[in-house]
Amino acid sequence: MSVLYGRVALIGLGLIAGSMALAMRRGGLAGEITGYARSSETRDIAREIGLVDRVYDSAADAAEGADLVVLCVPIGVMGGVAAEISAVLKPGATVSDVGSVKRAVIEAVAPHIPEGVHFVPAHPMAGTEHSGPRSGFAELFDNRWCLIVPVEGSDRAAVERLEALWRGLGSNTEEMDADHHDLVCAVTSHAPHLIAYTMVGVADDMRRVTDSEVIKFSAAGFRDFTRIAASDPTMWRDVFLSNKDATLEVLGRFTEELFALQRAIRTGDGEHLHQYFTRTRAIRREIVEAGQDTDAPDFGRGARK
Ligand code: NAP
Repeated sequence: MSVLYGRVALIGLGLIAGSMALAMRRGGLAGEITGYARSSETRDIAREIGLVDRVYDSAADAAEGADLVVLCVPIGVMGGVAAEISAVLKPGATVSDVGSVKRAVIEAVAPHIPEGVHFVPAHPMAGTEHSGPRSGFAELFDNRWCLIVPVEGSDRAAVERLEALWRGLGSNTEEMDADHHDLVCAVTSHAPHLIAYTMVGVADDMRRVTDSEVIKFSAAGFRDFTRIAASDPTMWRDVFLSNKDATLEVLGRFTEELFALQRAIRTGDGEHLHQYFTRTRAIRREIVEAGQDTDAPDFGRGARK
């Protein structure tokens, strides 16, 4: 694959930026990669493991002269970081981000993008519950979707080059409007995370009743909730605070369905339960057929307890 950007600056050096750096190297997509993270600890680790070619002590120094700047920080600080780098952005450069919510990020970042610089937001729909500079890996985006969310007036050539980058990183790409993106993600990612957080919280309360049995016998469905509920607290706080409307809409519908299932259990309506679970099983099959998960029993964990 050929070099798509002479210099790429990654602002924030955690799971997503680290995986991007490794996958860019794998594909030979960038001439040079610079980086910056808030804490000296993260910057030192990034230097030690050679995560990017050069780590700077300020966001502006990392972004100066870059052809592509990708904001890989928590959603709540995107606007502040954009303000810090605004003055040094090279004319013709592209600024992008990887935030899990799009409307709020666009509102926070767009005012800081100078004339002559392109802004093309994006969201790779891939992640793990791990964070920090050591958590990235080159295969993270392989066969996952990256949604590209052009803003009004986004330059077509800049959009297409960013899409080519994400395809080079292993992703499939699709363009989407910001509000639609936020609703889709509320259904597929944000509300499910909140439900997992809640279930683990409930089990933790119950532990006081059942002693340590919740942990001991967690291998059933609960263990998968605990993996999701181990996700980064800062990132997820910001996701809910910035995708409020869509998340509340989905949770409202969720609560209605939950009440209906609760009533079916109380009234012994097995027909309702069976029909419901048959429908949801078909959805699981579609996800596996679309290549978005493995159909191996226990998610391929094998006999591990
Ligand atoms: P992460 O591993 O926690 O890394 C976040 C990075 O941002 C760290 O390097 C952190 O630096 C840095 N940072 C925080 N505040 C900063 C500031 N004010 N200025 C400069 N750097 C700052 O997080 P991540 O999982 O890569 O997530 C980054 C973004 O990707 C988020 O917007 C998230 O919504 C999005 N995203 C995440 C996932 C996922 O599953 N994790 C998936 C798709 C998209 P320190 O280490 O020094 O604190």
